[in-house]
Amino acid sequence: MRTGCLATGIDAAGVSIGAERIAARTVVWAAGVAASPLGRTLGAPLDRAGRVRVGPDLSVPGHPEIFVIGDLAAIESEGRPVPGIAPAAKQMGAHAARAVRSRIAGRAALPAFRYRDYGLLATIGRRAAVALIGGVRLSGYPAWLAWLFAHIYFLIGFRNRVVVLLEWAWSYWTFERHARIVIGGGGPAG
Ligand SMILES: Cc1cc2nc3c(=O)[nH]c(=O)nc-3n(C[C@H](O)[C@H](O)[C@H](O)COP(=O)(O)OP(=O)(O)OC[C@H]3O[C@@H](n4cnc5c(N)ncnc54)[C@H](O)[C@@H]3O)c2cc1C
Repeated sequence: MRTGCLATGIDAAGVSIGAERIAARTVVWAAGVAASPLGRTLGAPLDRAGRVRVGPDLSVPGHPEIFVIGDLAAIESEGRPVPGIAPAAKQMGAHAARAVRSRIAGRAALPAFRYRDYGLLATIGRRAAVALIGGVRLSGYPAWLAWLFAHIYFLIGFRNRVVVLLEWAWSYWTFERHARIVIGGGGPAG
């Protein structure tokens, strides 16, 4: 375990930490994500990850006509940073829409955005997931079924749900992987 050092390069044969080299064929990247560079164009205060520090109503300080929501927004709710996950992005979208509607209708400003944590779901393998829903912990196959149901249920539109379900069923039975990230064109073939 090394702390306080930066990975400066990753390729098919290992990881570089400055001049030091660690040979590895499997590298797991868990350094988090940086916000879209779009945030920098607003001239608004940013956090360390490049997210825009928004006001309690999700608008840019000094620019009530600009809302920033989802992964690009840095905001706290009940003293804790709102996580960069899909439910938070959806809740922010709904809040910003309500704020716009209430302004158009000339109503009083909405209360500050509050993130509601309905639970956590993560798939960790074939027919295996972990879930924390309403204080109840699930793991293994039941959690995987809950994960599957939630992801299909929250898709928009019946057609999307059917298409995704069919694609997932195909991947499941054929062992095919759908999402792949290919970085760069170099390195050994295979
Ligand atoms: C690998 C991975 C796995 C994840 N798994 C989960 C999970 O299991 N559960 C979960 O809740 N969350 C998960 N997340 C996080 C989740 O995807 C995000 O929190 C969520 O998508 C944020 O929504 P968003 O609308 O803010 O951003 P996005 O969904 O990223 O949408 C932003 C959109 O803006 C577009 N865009 C960017 N720049 C511009 C521009 N200059 N002009 C026009 N359009 C632009 C992008 O193309 C994109 O379509 C995962 C994220 C990653 C990367």
